[in-house]
Amino acid sequence: MADKKAFVTGVTGQDGAYLSKLLLEKGYRVYGLLQRSTRYAFENLDYLGVTGDVDYVEGNMDDEASLINAIRRVHPDEVYNLAAQSFVGVSWDQARLTTEVNSLGVLNLLNAIKNFTPTTRFYQASTSEMFGNSADEQGIQTENTPFHPRSPYAISKLYAYWITINYKESFGMYCCNGILFNHESPIRGLEFVTRKITDAVVRIKLGMQDRLGLGNLDSCRDWGFAGDYVEAMYLMLQQDDPDNYLVSTGNTHSIADFCSAAFARVGIEDWEKHVFIDPAFKRPAELHRLRGHSERASEKLGWKPRVSFEELVNMMVDADLKRLSPAD
Ligand code: NDP
Ligand code: GDP
Repeated sequence: MADKKAFVTGVTGQDGAYLSKLLLEKGYRVYGLLQRSTRYAFENLDYLGVTGDVDYVEGNMDDEASLINAIRRVHPDEVYNLAAQSFVGVSWDQARLTTEVNSLGVLNLLNAIKNFTPTTRFYQASTSEMFGNSADEQGIQTENTPFHPRSPYAISKLYAYWITINYKESFGMYCCNGILFNHESPIRGLEFVTRKITDAVVRIKLGMQDRLGLGNLDSCRDWGFAGDYVEAMYLMLQQDDPDNYLVSTGNTHSIADFCSAAFARVGIEDWEKHVFIDPAFKRPAELHRLRGHSERASEKLGWKPRVSFEELVNMMVDADLKRLSPAD
């Protein structure tokens, strides 16, 4: 049988890079959607050493014709839709753009698949942000927890979640939602709190920066490693039937916990001295605590996270240390 073909949108992002590497290792031919830019963002793919192994197709989630062209050209066995305006913080200021890319972009892509390659399997990058502050009595989210999105980002992703289910139910397409909790890595965007912290911790350690301004230190996230989470995406598209799966570690830590662990990695114990509260980073509506129970992914996909919270923090700090330390 010829190699399988995967089409990955958001290929230049954190998850796009990890997923491309995984699929290439499995023998896939990987095609990536590249949005037009004066400076293409290949850093993440470079970091994982796979930039030259991916085939690129130019297009934009906002431009249905470009997605039709891409789908007709590639004829993929599997589509992983990772492209998004993915930063919650900016979604209040750019709510319309967030909606166009994250909601209508998914509709565009599903229509292209439905009309030209209806047997293509489809993965939608859904998010724990859709839960907002909903949880069960133990403070845990599952696939059955009611959604109550608390940002334009989360609302845009909820549309995408339901249109993905609707195309499965209406047209018999193989469509899955992965409801992924926060996942991080050395190539996480610098605007996200984990990477902002590890980058600043190293700069403070090396004398390049004095202090770190953060918003809410009390909110808690269920942080996992992106490299583990892309395996769950792949597994979702290898089943007999499509389904929706929550993907999480089951552990939760506060932003303060993350700071404490990251500063400790470089030998700084009195981390509070280096951190100040900057109201500019507080959000109009906060999501206080996420902790997911990924039993379905464990039972049906045989998926389990490998990297612990401590290992993740250390991996990210060590990578920033390597990146920022002066060459000998
Ligand atoms: P990133 O922000 O790192 O990557 C986003 C990608 O989308 C980039 O490749 C970007 O391209 C691309 N993109 C943005 N707008 C468009 C557009 N209009 N047309 C085409 N491409 C576009 O995100 P992550 O890798 O962290 O996340 C992957 C997906 O998973 C996203 O959908 C995110 O919302 C979702 N998710 C992420 C979680 C996480 O913790 N990381 C948790 C749950 C869900 P460019 O490089 O050119 O800007
Ligand atoms: P999110 O869960 O997708 O919004 O991921 P982020 O990494 O952007 O934010 C995680 C949590 O960190 C949220 O509760 C933020 O309010 C909190 N936070 C506190 N300070 C900051 C900050 O300076 N930047 C970001 N991005 N988040 C912060």
